Order: sequence, then C-alpha cells, then structure tokens
Amino acid sequence: MTCLQYTLKGRIALLTMAQPPVNSLGYELRSALVAALDRANGDPAVSAIVLTGSDRAFSGGADIREFDTPRFMLEPHLRTVVDLVEQSAKPVIAAIHGVCMGGGLELALSTHFRVASPSASIALPEVKLGLLPGAGGTQRLPRLIGLEAALSFIVGGQPLPAAQFKGTPLFNELIEGDLIAGAITFAERVVSEKIPIQRVRDLKVRYPSHEAFLQFARNMIKGVAGPYPAPLKIVDAIAATLKPTFAEGDAIEQRLFTELMLTPESRALRHLFQAERAASKIPDVPDTTAMRAIASVGVIGAGTMGGGIAMNFLNAGIPVILIETKQEALDRGIATITKNYQGSLLKGKLTEADFTQRMARLRGSLQMSDLATCDLIIEAVFEDISVKETVFKAMDAVAKPGAILATNTSTLDVNRIASFTRRPADVIGLHFFSPANVMKLLEVVRGQATAKEVLATVMGLAKKIKKIAVVAGVCDGFIGNRMLMPYWAAAEDLIARGATPWQVDQAMEAFGMVMGPFRVSDLAGNDIGWAIRKSRAALHPGRPVKPNVADALCELGRFGQKTGKGWYRYEAGQRAPIPDPDVIALLDQHRKTLGIQARAFTDDGIVTRCVYALINEGAKLLGEGIAARASDIDMVYLTGYGFPAYRGGPMHYANEVGLFQVARTLTALAKDGDSSWEPAPLIVDCLSTGRALS
Ligand code: NAD
Repeated sequence: MTCLQYTLKGRIALLTMAQPPVNSLGYELRSALVAALDRANGDPAVSAIVLTGSDRAFSGGADIREFDTPRFMLEPHLRTVVDLVEQSAKPVIAAIHGVCMGGGLELALSTHFRVASPSASIALPEVKLGLLPGAGGTQRLPRLIGLEAALSFIVGGQPLPAAQFKGTPLFNELIEGDLIAGAITFAERVVSEKIPIQRVRDLKVRYPSHEAFLQFARNMIKGVAGPYPAPLKIVDAIAATLKPTFAEGDAIEQRLFTELMLTPESRALRHLFQAERAASKIPDVPDTTAMRAIASVGVIGAGTMGGGIAMNFLNAGIPVILIETKQEALDRGIATITKNYQGSLLKGKLTEADFTQRMARLRGSLQMSDLATCDLIIEAVFEDISVKETVFKAMDAVAKPGAILATNTSTLDVNRIASFTRRPADVIGLHFFSPANVMKLLEVVRGQATAKEVLATVMGLAKKIKKIAVVAGVCDGFIGNRMLMPYWAAAEDLIARGATPWQVDQAMEAFGMVMGPFRVSDLAGNDIGWAIRKSRAALHPGRPVKPNVADALCELGRFGQKTGKGWYRYEAGQRAPIPDPDVIALLDQHRKTLGIQARAFTDDGIVTRCVYALINEGAKLLGEGIAARASDIDMVYLTGYGFPAYRGGPMHYANEVGLFQVARTLTALAKDGDSSWEPAPLIVDCLSTGRALS
C-alpha cells in the first residue's frame, strides 16, 4: 500500500495519502483508502482517524486520466469511498493543506470534522471540465457554507484560501503552524470529550424564499454560460439540496453528473485538459533530459514582437538585453514596453514595486557584442531571409558556447537559418504570437539539427513564462499558419463564388470562432498576406497565378482597420466592421472576370468548407510528422487562433463528427472541381483501420 501511509499516533490512526504529485484519487488510492478505513475501524486500539495528504496536497481530486476509461468506474469509485468515510463508526478528521480540490474536497466534506491550514487552496473546479462535482460536493457544500455561497463557488470553479471560510462549519479549526500535530490534538479532544460525530448529510439547507433566489440565479447564469450546459445544471443540483432527504438530492446530482459527462462540450474540455498536459511531452525527449540554465536573455529587434517577447522574461524575473540598430528604434521599443507596464500599473494589475523591478531588468543596446553573456538570444527582426542571415551570423560570432539561438520567424525555413551558424544544434524556432506578452501560444520549431537538450530547455522555460508550448517540425507555416492557408483559401473561394465576407464571418462566429476570417484579416492587416503571396510568387516564378480577390482588395489600398477600409469599412477611430457595398462591387467584378456564376451558400455549407479545410491540412501535417499528436494541433488552434474550446479543436471536432463523414464530405468537395479537397492520406488510413486522429 505505497500510495497511502498508515501510522498510529497513540490511539489516533493517521492516514496519509502519498500519491505524487497531488494525491489524485485514482483506483489504487481509492482502494487503499477503503482498506485503511476498515483497518482503523477494526482495530480496538484506534479511537479516531486523521486523514491527510503528503507533500503539496491534501488531494487534487479525481485522476482525470481515468475519466474515459473503465478504471474510473472501478469499485470502489469515489462516491463509494465518500459514503464509506461518512459512515465510519469512528470519527474521521480531515487535515487539509496545500491543494484540496474537486474530488479531494468532496472527500474532505464526507469526513466528520475538518481542520485546515489557512493557506490551503480549496476549489470545486469541475465546471472547467464542463462537469459538476459528482461525489456529493453539490449536496454537502451548501449544507456547510449556505446555498448562495456554494452556488457561486461551484459555478465559478476558482480556488479560494481556506482562511476565506473562517467562521463557517466547513472548517472546525484553522491551524497555523504544524497541521498534523494540531489535527492529532483536535482528534484527541473529539475522543476525550466524546464530541458526537457530525455527518454533513444530516444538516439542513435553509434559505428564505429559495425559489425566487434560484430563479434569479438561473436567469443570471443563463446569460453568461454561453454554449456550456454545466453552470445551469449546477443550479439544478444545488436546488436539489432542498429536497426532503439527502439521498434524493444526491441521486439528482449523480444523474446530472452523468448527463454532463456525455455532453460534447465536456468531452471537448476534458480533451483539451489532457491536450495541454500532453503538449509539454516530446516523444523522443525524455523528462530526464538535461536542461541548460537560462539566467539572461537577449532579444534582437524591438518592434511589434521583440518588445512583447522581452516582457515575458522581465515578468518572469529574467533580465533582458534588447538590441536594435538605431537609437531611435530602441527608444521607441523601450517606450512601448514602459507604456504597457504603466497601463497595468494604472489598472492595478501591477504594483509600483513590480513596475520598478521589471523595468530595472531591461537594458537596451545597439551593440551585438552585449549579447555575449546571454544564455538565450531570440531574433525578432524583419521577415527577410537575408536580414536573418546577417543577424544569425552576428549572433554566432558573439554568443557564448552553449547559448541557445532562437528565431521568431513565422514563415522562413528554420533549418536554413540554423545553417547560417556554426552551431545548428543550438538553433531553434520560438514562434510567439502577437501580442507576444499576452498570447498563450508558443510554437517551438524543431530544426533538423536542434539538440534535445535545447528542446527540453525551451519547453521548461515556456512554463516559466506561462506559455503553452507546442512543438512543430519545419515546414511552411509550421502548424498554425500552415493550416490557415487552406482555411483562407476556402473562405476566399466562398466569397469568390457568391457568399459575402460578412456572411462567412457570421457563420464562423456562430460556429464559435472568436472572429471570422475576414475580420481577422482586417485586424491583422490585409497587406501582410499580400506581401507573403508576393514573396512566394517570387520564389516560384514559373507557377501560374490565379487572379485573387484579396490582391485586388490590397491594390485598392484596403489594408483593413489601419486604413479604415478592408473587407469592411470602419468609421474613424472605431473598430466595428461595417459591410461595404464597394466590396460587393469588387466581388461582382472578380466573378465577371473569371466567368463565375454567383451561387448561395448556407451557413452550414460555409462552416463545413472552412473547418474541413483546417481538418484536412491538420491531418496532412500530422501524417508528415510536423505535429507529434492530434491534440497538439488542437492546442495550437485553441490558444493561438480562437477556435472554440467547447468544440475541442479541429482534430477533436473531426473525431466527434466521425472521420467517415469528414472523408465523404471532403471527397464530394474534391469532385466539385478542386482536388486539394481530397482527404488527407492519414484520414483514409485511420478510416481503413478504425482509428481516430490521435
Ligand atoms: P517589426 O518590423 O515590428 O520589428 C522588427 C524590428 O527589428 C524593427 O524595430 C527593426 O528596427 C529591427 N531590426 C531590423 N534589423 C535589425 C538588426 N539587424 N538588428 C537589430 N534590430 C533589427 O516586425 P515584427 O512584426 O516584430 O516581426 C519580427 C519577426 O517576428 C518577423 O520574423 C515576423 O515574421 C515574426 N512574427 C511577427 C508576428 C506579428 O504578428 N507581427 C507574429 C509572429 C512572428
């Protein structure tokens, strides 16, 4: 029984859960808990039981890796454990420190007395997985902290310190200092003073005019829950605490939990929870891989990206040297960083001391030689291979041995950039997204020669700067932007054939994208894509060029929000997109030139084309090994491209729709005249072997 220690402290049995890192309540620990409980109850020398957790946690709750496996329902499952603890003939006292969340808190709620360190972190975060607490949490918590407080705590899902519950019967005592010693003393007192066992199920919930409150809560929550069913079901579960018996309410909770487990929204959120954890693992780079110390960072280029990139490290306590070619550009870059921090200061997100410390970690320079002491140097200069060549040669000349040399390029070949140096093993792509100090995603681009140690180091560093890092192989656009190309092509094809940009945007936003493709393009600047198309055309001079409506738009100077006109028009100083008849005229002209007969598209038809374009390209790059797993692609689209979390990412969505259906639709689109819609080989392969994209 290694996952639970059983020790006797006089007449008190001390049960210490010991399943690192957070005592997740997987099958082994659940079994061990029941066995230890039986042992203590069967031992005449034991008068009371203290239940606690080793290390950082009381318990972080259910083992989510078990969720969609039979082990989740293997007896004793959590509901059984919770009932057995509550029924224990001998008093059980929970001693809570560190993390006490989800099933961990539900376990604590089933004990007869609870003592806690004031700093213990308490939460029922199931709502974040599209669920509700399913082991009695919705029934017991309101009996201790009241209906209203329990509802907002469970719907919010955020952790609170135990100290916040001072004065409620949730905790019998808050113990400063040695928690275990305090818990044993408390248990001794329960025994010697014969304090009767207090089962939470026996308490009653009282709330004057609860019907009115619950109706109010339903209306409020409906307004903010969006597509997620869990928050309203939580209200139903909490309302069930008012049933005449605990058992009735408990049965309702169990039914609602099961219903939520089966919703596509919860499946998607659970998938993303696992996806985030999986992304940090690289199949051929073991966790034991040595990491290099990163104590100082150099950033070359203080433009849009360089400034934001620098802020990530300043925030994490790592000093940064920012390099520019001209004093003026350097001053501008530093002024932008200062202004950003001042904004946070004004909003109260940063203290005066934080502001001063962060600025003190930043140094500007015009000398590449100042980078000689940096452990990591990130290049964020113009997107031009000859500029990158000059800069990487200079980096190679000044950087110390073992320094990591990174490029923030979005489109250029990282292997070629590595070849400009004499140390390609130390070169890697760190593709930040704009604004780099805000966006969660970091695409880590692994070159042919990139050392495993370098990869392990940047993955560790990504955690430190609070990014979600996803590894991509080298190809045009890596994961995110490569998939964007066919997505864009599908969106443009739709408007070329008869849809309007606003119809496409509305359909995609109704699907759940944060912003439709044409609004995104107007925001980012239509000239960016134009420049990329021109440079690609220059690279392949013989390739035939199809007249492109986006080029025609740019030729009119309609670059988007920054010029007041793009796919939409904008009032001066406003960001609200206004449909523009001039764009309709442009599209009509385009169709006339190409002899295209305008046709109508349904919103479903629009979504299918745009989303299936993402799916098909995702499957292609997965098949090529550019992404290690389907869930990595989902993380990229969730954190960098505004794909809706409740759909789980394009690859998860494809599996939910069913690959048979996806392949049939793609084949039908290909028959409509464009062979690029042919299903990716991986989709065909998965279909023939009965696998999902994984
Ligand atoms: P930018 O034009 O805003 O900034 C580039 C900066 O680099 C300028 O301030 C310029 O003075 C400086 N610079 C140029 N040559 C230099 C040199 N030899 N030494 C030092 N400084 C030099 O460009 P940006 O948008 O920040 O893009 C930088 C890189 O990041 C590009 O590779 C781009 O593809 C990539 N990127 C951009 C975005 C984005 O949304 N802007 C997103 C991801 C990646």
